[in-house]
Amino acid sequence: MYLKRFYGPPATEGDPPRVIGVKMLRAGRVQHFSAGFLDGGQGEGWLIRTADAVTIRATTGPVVYRLIRGPGAYCCYCEAAIPDAGTLLEPGLTIGRKHVLSQHGDALSPDPTNPAGYRVEHHYTGVLVGDTVEATTPEEAAQMERGVRDALAVKLRTKYGDTRGASAARRALKTAAAGGEG
Ligand SMILES: [Zn+2]
Repeated sequence: MYLKRFYGPPATEGDPPRVIGVKMLRAGRVQHFSAGFLDGGQGEGWLIRTADAVTIRATTGPVVYRLIRGPGAYCCYCEAAIPDAGTLLEPGLTIGRKHVLSQHGDALSPDPTNPAGYRVEHHYTGVLVGDTVEATTPEEAAQMERGVRDALAVKLRTKYGDTRGASAARRALKTAAAGGEG
């Protein structure tokens, strides 16, 4: 997902610039949302969250995701949610492993990065309601990258000052670019 944030002057002089709106440049069909992203969007007033949906109030119109999973542990074989998966039932046997062994035997985990057969997710997963949103022109696509970079630079300069902000921005860009799928 790529959002362009629009900034306005701060409410109080000396405060960081205020986000006054967002434009949706690209919204993939499946999206991972961190708790920080959801809280931030709500705090800045452009995101509405209910028990089962996230609505981004973009300048280009609302973009709605239906939440299908929240943070927690999930079975790699059958995708069942496994509450308290990490809790030990007896030495060497967690609730998660017990589910895997009793339901799926001791076959190799379908997910090689989670050999125990279940995985822990820290994000919310949403599925887009309606059509995907894509950047409309090549120029807009290029602006997408620039917008993300500029917004981050403003944020970090505010936080760290000009010199340290610039190098922190370069470091953080990698993180931001890896921040979601779709
Ligand atoms: Zn299972």
